[in-house]
This record gives sequence, C-alpha cells and structure tokens, in this order.
Amino acid sequence: MKQLFLIVVIVLMVITACNKKSPNMKDKNDLNNIFPAGQKGPAETFTGNAYNYNLVPDDGLYNTLVGNVYFEPGARSNWHIHPAGQILIITDGVGYHQVKGQAVQIIRKGDVIKCPPNVLHWHGASKDTGLQQLYIIPNTEKGIVDWKQAVTDEEYKQQQ
Ligand code: MN
Repeated sequence: MKQLFLIVVIVLMVITACNKKSPNMKDKNDLNNIFPAGQKGPAETFTGNAYNYNLVPDDGLYNTLVGNVYFEPGARSNWHIHPAGQILIITDGVGYHQVKGQAVQIIRKGDVIKCPPNVLHWHGASKDTGLQQLYIIPNTEKGIVDWKQAVTDEEYKQQQ
C-alpha cells in the first residue's frame, strides 16, 4: 500500500512537471534587452527595423564609440567598412555576419566578433529571430563607418 501511494505521488509529480512550461522556454523573438531600444536606424543604411542606443559617445579622450543595436527578425545593416575595425558582442538572439566574398557566419548570444579595419561586411538578425548586439569602434580618429549599398533580399536569402 505504501508503495502504491509512492507510485501515485511520483506519477502526479511527473504529470505536473510536464504540464508546467519551463521558465527557459520563451518566444524566440522575446529577446532580453539590457539597454533601451533607442533610435530607429535610417532606411538609407538599414533594411528592416534596427534600433541604435548610444552608450559611449565618441570623444577626443577615449576615441572609442560604444553602443547597442537591436535588429528585428530580417533586419540588417547595409554593406559597410570601419576604417579602424569593430568588435561585436552578441548579448541575445541569432544573426548573421558576413565579410564580402566569404561564407556567412551565424552569430549567437555570447559570441564576440572582430571585424578587421577596412573590410567590407554586414551584420544583422536572422530571418526568424532578432539580434541584440553591442558594438565597439576603437580609434575613431581614423573614421567610424563608411556606408555602402544595401544587402539585397537575394544576398540575404543566401544565408538560409
Ligand atoms: Mn560593422
């Protein structure tokens, strides 16, 4: 009898555990944001909805620009160059980074990406999941960004 009671309790515990949604299960687009979304990026340099929040403004002491960009699913930057390079730190979501002529790199929460100086590239969210990225641009006295053409739907679709 004692054993039967124990079995019933265990079965009930299993059923309860299965019905309860795991706290780690969240909507894939419900990304954690550390910083406010900020200003929407202009259509001339971004496809889709991307938002920039400045954290460290460029000045003559640090010569370093730091900010956060949130890309909604499908959003991406134009092709561009950073004269002094750029470091990306992905804090949530899934996205793409591609250097011209190279295969796309899938980027995820926790990834750190170095974009070397004067290398044509783009970055943005994946089709189905957004991307939260911190960017650091050092040595801003050499320049910050040189914008080029948009990443076309055809170029973007090649990543999937
Ligand atoms: Mn870049």
